[in-house]
Order: sequence, then structure tokens, then C-alpha cells
Amino acid sequence: MPNWQELEQKYYMRVFSRLPVVLVRGEGTRVWDEAGKSYLDMCAGLAVNVLGHCHPAVTEAICKQARTLVHTTNLYYTIPQLELAELLVEHSCADRVFFGNSGAEANEGAIKLARKYGRLNRGGAYEVISAENSFHGRTLATIAATGQAKFQKPFEPMPDGFKQVPFNDLDALKAATSAKTAAVLLEVVQGESGVNIGDHDYMVGVRKWCDEQGLLLILDEIQTGLGRTGKFLAYEHHGIEPDVFTMAKGLAGGVPIGAVLAKESAAVFGLSDHGSTFGGNGLACATGVATLKTIFAEGLVEHSAEVGRYLLQKLEELQARYDLVENARGLGLMAAFDLKREVAPALVRGALERGVILNNTSARTIRFVPPLIVTKAEVDEAIDVVARVLPEL
Ligand code: PLP
Repeated sequence: MPNWQELEQKYYMRVFSRLPVVLVRGEGTRVWDEAGKSYLDMCAGLAVNVLGHCHPAVTEAICKQARTLVHTTNLYYTIPQLELAELLVEHSCADRVFFGNSGAEANEGAIKLARKYGRLNRGGAYEVISAENSFHGRTLATIAATGQAKFQKPFEPMPDGFKQVPFNDLDALKAATSAKTAAVLLEVVQGESGVNIGDHDYMVGVRKWCDEQGLLLILDEIQTGLGRTGKFLAYEHHGIEPDVFTMAKGLAGGVPIGAVLAKESAAVFGLSDHGSTFGGNGLACATGVATLKTIFAEGLVEHSAEVGRYLLQKLEELQARYDLVENARGLGLMAAFDLKREVAPALVRGALERGVILNNTSARTIRFVPPLIVTKAEVDEAIDVVARVLPEL
């Protein structure tokens, strides 16, 4: 058998610091490496495998659509695209949707909507204010919107029209707003930077401020959407509705997809303003339809809320038992804790050796974004392993 890790070293761009495991198969909440060892996956392909690995509904939809019509371009009408659009609009505050291939592409679409909206409605305003420690993608515009210098520095100068303010600080947002501002872009729970939960008063306050100022409120639901936080979309926790929001990650159960969704008043793209060769193709959208129908039919949004509460309780118990653990937090099946020392990578490796896949968002933070189908018994299994590794750190 080839040495896959050596091939990676030789042929792949050096952008990933990978764990020393070659994964070859998955089923439900588990994956297997090439030696046949199994792992409980508490990371779910970074919040993508919402139905777990190779869920029969996803596999069947992929196979059926692959035998029927994979791709045609958007010069024609295709059925899965319109079925998925209808499902998303009927289950959200949006009136219209556009499909792309990734989260970053969805956010690019949202930023373009903001600029066109500003041109039409705010005297040419084009600036997007986002939050410090946010994450919105790896394209040039989305790193400019991402409030983390490490993603921007190597690629400066950044495109004009982006500004960041501290998260959960309404006064800072108000102070940063000017005649140039077209939109505010926020995650309801910041994921990549370690599960920082937006305060209820802040979210409500931002909505009100955007209304008063005529700004678009764009919510990045790429990680928080699809039931991840215990609501289908995380904005539902706050009784607010964004003008625009974006989805991606698990929307097609692991097949690449992204979506920008907007209220009619914010859906300002006209003919030829936007496009995407692969966006909304039959394969991705048929799989998306199967994924959404399964989430709703199996009550996975409610399940996420319930098992998420259990997971948070278990993390709080860990915190009470181990001095090293602090700041247990979570909303639905999006949870994290911090370590008082920079030992998160060692904890991830220790858990991996014991058959549990965890994710660290920094040297001090462990994030849990398991498949939505995870059970309380599997949460116990993961927490048990964490509890066995912690004393070794
Ligand atoms: N926005 C958020 C909140 C994310 O968590 C991510 C990915 O982690 C993205 C955008 C970028 O998505 P993608 O990697 O599909 O471009």
C-alpha cells in the first residue's frame, strides 16, 4: 500500500497540519482508518456530516442523482435545485436563494448583495462591518471580512470596504457605523474561533440598529445552521430575522454546496449580477433535499437541542472535576471548553489514540460539533476518553 502521508508531503500544498491518520471509511458517527481502527467522530468533518457518515438517505440520493443527471448548468431549469430552494425558503425567513459550492462562496454572494444594496439604497455605501474573531472563509473578500489578522496578514493589502469591531459590543458597532456602511455581517455563534455565543441583547440590539440605520443584517449560519444549535437556524434563538443569511457545511450531507438566502427587499441581484458554474447542480441539490428531509423527518433539530444540553452538562461536570478545564459553553451540538494551559493539541492526539476524534480551535480550546445523530451514550463515550486523557496533560 502506498504511504499516503509521504505522498501528501510530496504532492500537496503545505497548508494543513494533519493528524497522523488516513481515514478510509465512515458509517454513522464512526470512521475507520486504513488499519481498521475505528473512531467516534465528535467533529463531523468540521460540522459537515450532520447525518453522520454515509447515511442511507444521503448515499441513496447521490447514487440516484448520479444515475439520472449530475450537472447541466444554470442555463436550464433543474428539479432538485428548485426543490431545495423551496424547502429552504419554506423553513426560514428568506424569500429567495442562490446556490454556490462552499461557505466562502455563499458569503461572497452576501457581500455582493450588500454592495448592490448600498448602491441602490444608501448612496453608494459599500462597507461591511463584521466582528473580531469571526470567520467567514478563505477567499480574498471573506478573509477581509474575517476578524482575525493571521488569515489576512500574508495576503495584504486587503480589499477596501471591511471593518471589524469587538463581538457582543453594540456600542462599538454603533460607533463604527458611517455613511459608508452597507451591512453588518455576524455569526450568531462564532465557530472557528471557539464557540463564542452571541448575547441575546446584542443580537436583538444589532437587528434594531440595522433597522434604524437602513443597513442589511447578514448572518453567517454556515456553521450554526441546519439544527446545529438546537434550532434550524440560530437566529431563531433570538426572535430576530436577518435580511440575508448564508448556509453551507452540511446542507448537502457532505457534498459541496453553499447558499445565500435573502428577503425579497435584500434580494437585489439582477440578471447577470451573479452566477456559478457548479452552484445548484443536480447532484448537490438532490443530496441537499434528502439531507433536509431527513433532518426534519427524524426530528434532528430537537434531538440536537436535547443531546446538546446533555453534552454541555457533561462538559460542566468535567470543568468541576478538573482544574485544567474552564469556560464550558455550548448551544445545541456546538460546544467547547478551554484549557488553562496550551495543551489542546495534546488532548486531541490523546483522544485520537483512544478512538475519539476531537477538534481544537486553538492551543487552548476544544470544540465539539458532532453529527446531529449523536446519542447520549456516545457523548458519554467521548467524555470518558477526555477524562482519561486530561490527567496525562
Ligand atoms: N463561515 C463560517 C461561520 C464557517 O465556519 C466557515 C468554515 O468553517 C466558513 C464560513 C467557510 O466555509 P467554507 O470552508 O465552506 O468556504
